[in-house]
Formats: sequence, C-alpha cells, structure tokens
Amino acid sequence: MTKVLDEKISRRSFFTKTGGAVAGTAAASMVISTVLNYKGTLAKPAVVAETNETLTMLSELKEALKKSIEKRKWAMVIDTRKCIGCSGCTVACIAQNNLPPGVTYRVVHEVEDGEYPDLKRFFMPTNCMQCEKPTCVDAANKIIPGSMSIRPDGIVTIDYKKMKGKKVFQAAKKACPYSNALYYDEGKNYTDNTPAIQPYEKMKSKEYKKEFSRKETKDATRKCHFCLDRIENGMLPACVSTCTGQAMYFGDANNPASIVSKYIKSKQSFVLNAGAKTSPAVRFVHDNLDETCLKCHE
Ligand code: SF4
Ligand code: SF4
Repeated sequence: MTKVLDEKISRRSFFTKTGGAVAGTAAASMVISTVLNYKGTLAKPAVVAETNETLTMLSELKEALKKSIEKRKWAMVIDTRKCIGCSGCTVACIAQNNLPPGVTYRVVHEVEDGEYPDLKRFFMPTNCMQCEKPTCVDAANKIIPGSMSIRPDGIVTIDYKKMKGKKVFQAAKKACPYSNALYYDEGKNYTDNTPAIQPYEKMKSKEYKKEFSRKETKDATRKCHFCLDRIENGMLPACVSTCTGQAMYFGDANNPASIVSKYIKSKQSFVLNAGAKTSPAVRFVHDNLDETCLKCHE
C-alpha cells in the first residue's frame, strides 16, 4: 500500500487531485533571510554551499541565455533519493514570490510505500510541471482569452490582470492532471487581524518581469513559473538554489550535454502521470522505479 502521510491517501490519487502542503522549518527561515534581501536583483543565496553541480548548472544556464528563447527548453529534475523533506524549497519559493496565505507554488509530500516490515518512506516535492501540452491553458483561455500562455522556452504563464475570478481558476484546475499546481489568491495577509500588516506583506511580488501589489494579484490564479525573472538574470530558481539536500537540477533540455538532459535520458527518471499526455518538463528520479513509482505512474 502507498500513502501520502500528510494526507493519508494513495499515491495514485495524490498525483491526480489533492491538496495540502508541508512547510516551515528552522532551516527554511535561514532561506527567507537570504532571499528577502532583494532589491531589484537577488542577493546570492548563502544557505547551500556552491557545489560543482551548482556551478555547472549556472554555467549551462548562462550558455542557454545566449541563445534565442525559441532555442532553449527549460527542464527540472527532482531526485527524491536526496530530498530530506526540510521544505526549505517551499519557504524559499514563498519568500521569492512574496506569496500570500493559501498560495504555495511548491509542496513537499511525505510518501509511504509498502506495509510493515517492508516499508519505505520518502519525500516527493512537486510544483507546476510546465507541460509542453498544458491542458490548463486551453481551459482557461476558453473562459478568458489570453489568461494563460506557453512561452517558446516551455514556461507556462498567467496574465494576472486577465486571469481573475474563481470561474477561470476552477476551469484550469479541473483541466490540470496534477494536484497542487494552481492556486487561488484570496488577497490575504499572514498578519491580517494583528495590530499592523507587516512591511514584507506590503512588498510587491516580482514576477513575469513586472511588479504586483497584493491588491493586484487578489483573485488571480497563481502557480510556479520556474522563477523566470531569476533565470533570465542568470540565477537558478529559488527552490534549486536553496535545496538543502541538493536534490534538484535545472537547465536547458535542448543542450544534450546539460545535467538535466543526462537525467532525461536516464532510465532512472520518469514523469508523473505520463498517461495524461501533457509532456511535463519536470521529471523525478527514484530508486526501484518498477517496484515503487511506476506501479502508479507509468
Ligand atoms: S501542471 Fe497543470 S497547471 Fe502546470 S502546465 Fe501542466 S496542466 Fe498546466
Ligand atoms: S529544499 Fe530540497 S531537500 Fe529540502 S524539501 Fe525541498 S527538495 Fe527536499
């Protein structure tokens, strides 16, 4: 039997339609202080020491940025064997994008596989899969034309000015084969009903090469965009930069020599819900694929 411990459901249903997030650790608070040091450009993250792989990914990113946008294809690989479940990535994402309560572009699930004594537990971080054939886009654009798009580099985007209201959000969420990809922004603050709304809640969200106040994103649909503002400034997505377990890889899938390309070709990597045929740009690595993941995700 397989279950997701934060929700007590099977893995099959977990990766189709569920909710819930695991967030907030002491390690993650270190991430916040690093990422919040943000005035136009981000301070270099100091939480995770730079490794050869990080330097290689940064160098590959810079090479990819020299090409025209049509010639690069961003991809992410998450090695579940290395994830320690610290949720630092979730907190880094919240800080990077100045996310309000109820909106978490990244969720880290704890999964239990098997029955005692043959029992395994591991962590499974997820976010929007930046699908090549994103079913959310058609569904949203049927309700509000132009509310969602796909960029030539594969990032699926939202127009916060257009994609407003629950009707379009629900249509996109229903069409998406993955849970925890899309969120509805109710415009709340963490410090509502306290003596003062804190300054960090009044900061603008810097996304899609623009700045949005919390009032401007209220009632909009929100989701991960691979930190496109960071990557276009030569930085890795916040979750990758801050990953304590160094479990994440990001780069250009159109570069056959890139780290992500090697994982994409590897038999150890797989996409979730391949049957939905949306061609996700996010892949996972796990031991014993046949015994565990592919039972549900072939
Ligand atoms: S994961 Fe869902 S929201 Fe993200 S691009 Fe794919 S279909 Fe759209
Ligand atoms: S920061 Fe890395 S190790 Fe920690 S939960 Fe996220 S993916 Fe896993």
